[in-house]
Amino acid sequence: MHDPNLIILDHPLVLDRMTRLRDKNATPEIFRAAVDECANIIAMEATRTLKTQPKNITTPLIDMEGQILSGPAPLIVPILRAGLALSNAFSKVLPEADTGHVGLYRDEETKRPVQYLVKLPKKLARPIFMVDPMLATGHSMVAAIDTVVSAGANPDDMVACVLIAAPEGVETMRKAYPTMPIITGAMDSHLNDHAYIVPGLGDAGDRYFGTV
Ligand code: URA
Repeated sequence: MHDPNLIILDHPLVLDRMTRLRDKNATPEIFRAAVDECANIIAMEATRTLKTQPKNITTPLIDMEGQILSGPAPLIVPILRAGLALSNAFSKVLPEADTGHVGLYRDEETKRPVQYLVKLPKKLARPIFMVDPMLATGHSMVAAIDTVVSAGANPDDMVACVLIAAPEGVETMRKAYPTMPIITGAMDSHLNDHAYIVPGLGDAGDRYFGTV
């Protein structure tokens, strides 16, 4: 069924960079550069609904009414550790944004997320970008969103931003948050027995930080 809130980026630069970074022979340097470029395009799409307000300025030629961002500064929430790979690009396009952190690791037996760190600002009534490269089972993304919502955020203010999604992850998200926007650079085929996305890119955090 068509999901109007699932946005799969259909952009030649994303296709090109995604192909570079998926390649197992890509060096960490090439991998990081390609992830950063995709993250930048994901950030552009994720910020599409930010509000603006008019501002009168004078160009070298004439007075005009422009538009500037309005409303409270957004919040970026990377899901540690791999989420940091996307949050850099978000911070660059939104220098006024604050950054909260939710640390989760995956219990390799249960494949379930275990929370080890939460650091969020008190003020959560603002646009919130949840960022994690891989929407695999979806359990980490949902657990992180639950944490931010329990702290006082409104799910309607939140967007889930990922590099690659699996159908299983989208399904988990949809059970918990049926209409939250999900923005992904690609939609892959399925999860393998270790809950890795196929074809995927392997371990996003290890490849981004060079801890392979
Ligand atoms: N996390 C990763 O880094 N890669 C996957 O394929 C799934 C989860």
